[in-house]
Amino acid sequence: MVEEVSKEKPLTIDYTPPIKSWMEPTVEFRKGTYGYPAAPKHEKYLDLPNPGVWQPADKDWKLPENWKEIILRGMKDRLGRYRSFRLFLDICVRCGACADKCHFFIGSGDPKNMPVLRTELLRSIYRRYFTLSGRIFGKLAGARELNEKVLKEWFYYFYQCTECRRCSVFCPYGIDTCEITMMARELLNLLGLNINWIVEPASNSYRTGNHLGIPPHAFKSTVDFAIDEIKEITGIQVEVPINRKGAEVLFIAPSADYFASPHWYTFLGYLLLFHEIGLDYTWSTYASEGGNFGLFHSADLAKRLNAKIYSEAKRLGVKWILGGECGHMWRVIHQYMDTFNGPADFLDEPVSPITGTHFENASSTKMVHLCEFTADLIKNNKLKLDPSRNNKWKVTYHDSCNISRGVGLLEEPRYILHNVCTEFYEMPENTIKERTFCCGSGAGLGSDENMEIRLRGGFPRANAVKYVKEQYGVNLLTCICAIDRATLPPLLEYWVPGVEVAGVHELVGNALVLKGEKERTTNLRGEPIKGEEEELHV
Ligand code: SF4
Ligand code: SF4
Repeated sequence: MVEEVSKEKPLTIDYTPPIKSWMEPTVEFRKGTYGYPAAPKHEKYLDLPNPGVWQPADKDWKLPENWKEIILRGMKDRLGRYRSFRLFLDICVRCGACADKCHFFIGSGDPKNMPVLRTELLRSIYRRYFTLSGRIFGKLAGARELNEKVLKEWFYYFYQCTECRRCSVFCPYGIDTCEITMMARELLNLLGLNINWIVEPASNSYRTGNHLGIPPHAFKSTVDFAIDEIKEITGIQVEVPINRKGAEVLFIAPSADYFASPHWYTFLGYLLLFHEIGLDYTWSTYASEGGNFGLFHSADLAKRLNAKIYSEAKRLGVKWILGGECGHMWRVIHQYMDTFNGPADFLDEPVSPITGTHFENASSTKMVHLCEFTADLIKNNKLKLDPSRNNKWKVTYHDSCNISRGVGLLEEPRYILHNVCTEFYEMPENTIKERTFCCGSGAGLGSDENMEIRLRGGFPRANAVKYVKEQYGVNLLTCICAIDRATLPPLLEYWVPGVEVAGVHELVGNALVLKGEKERTTNLRGEPIKGEEEELHV
């Protein structure tokens, strides 16, 4: 962690507005506040334009000579292609309703992190080059000249937006600053101005099927390891089918679930659930990643990475697809997959083989969220659950932005949690569901070098966790997003020590009473379950 954000020297938030006008572009690339640029080898692998070596803090960004022309051409092209882009640039009345809704503004006090001002950074260029008033009246009409300082400001602030869409909930016109950020990042990419934390996972995914670059044999080994661990905890030998042609269901999850911690326990939860209900399913070593870092880069890259899901479903001959706990994976599936790579007419409308429920909401994408699937199993009394096995936890739930605002999946995870644990407490109303606060590290911002910005952006989320910790003794924050499972632990360690992070299906796996299992003494983390713990002390 960078020195500036050590425990000994906590972050301070200064809301005093700067004296300078916002129209003057000023950026200081200070350690901890920006991501490292993409390595050219990864950009080349993905055929991205202008790969090269440069550093944000350097004066010379080694831009191509005609960089201005490239940007303006790219903008013109996108204004023609995306109606929302032009609309969002045209209709803002600068009412300010969004101003204090962004977690980065709340955590940094930097006015250019207000959604309205973030968009003005790009809108001012749109006015200057694409509107008559801007061409004639210049600054008076809120227009600015495009120069290198503006470009540097774009890079700084559009990589301080997690594309979380909280601002859009409060905008009376529904302006979605996330979409402006997406456009700005696409434009920056035209000059080779990318960050490595996005491009490297995307390139890995293109090469091996997943962000972490895990080859098929390593995937198989990790599955074998999970099988052994489950046997040790439950006494049950589960089967985990991989690349099995003719299975009814293809299961896709983020790769972090089978390689990172605390994700791993959610992965064990998936395997236990599928074993118990006898699901006819398969994993794939090719579509071994649900996450799609292309979404944080460009529509083109998101589409390329998403294609493997349908192509693998076709190759394996499954009937429909089930998806695990991931945030942006679901945003891509829900909002873009149909038009990117659909229609998936070769698949069936998903029907639960256990309950017979038709998932009509997935009749087009043919892909069902695991929380919908599990909630349906619980509702139909198909699972034997012992919530007391999760008694060591006082639980709250973080609505991951992409799942809540992007997909509208609000009640199913809560329904599951109410059935698998005994103590559940909501965070304050204005910080959950559609109004949830971002973890502060999504959309490719989750790198260590960016830690100060992550901790600032995550401050409002952490503050709401602190509230339930102090009020009710909450010690576990659950979520259904792999990025959250990676980024919330350091956030909480800094702002709210003593609260751990887990996926919802980790708690399902703990509570699930398997047919023929031995008496469990530990949870999936290998920790004594409460009660057992007390007995051990007697
Ligand atoms: S709330 Fe909407 S209209 Fe108002 S300033 Fe923000 S983006 Fe513009
Ligand atoms: S999308 Fe999220 S991070 Fe971006 S400006 Fe809006 S509230 Fe802030």
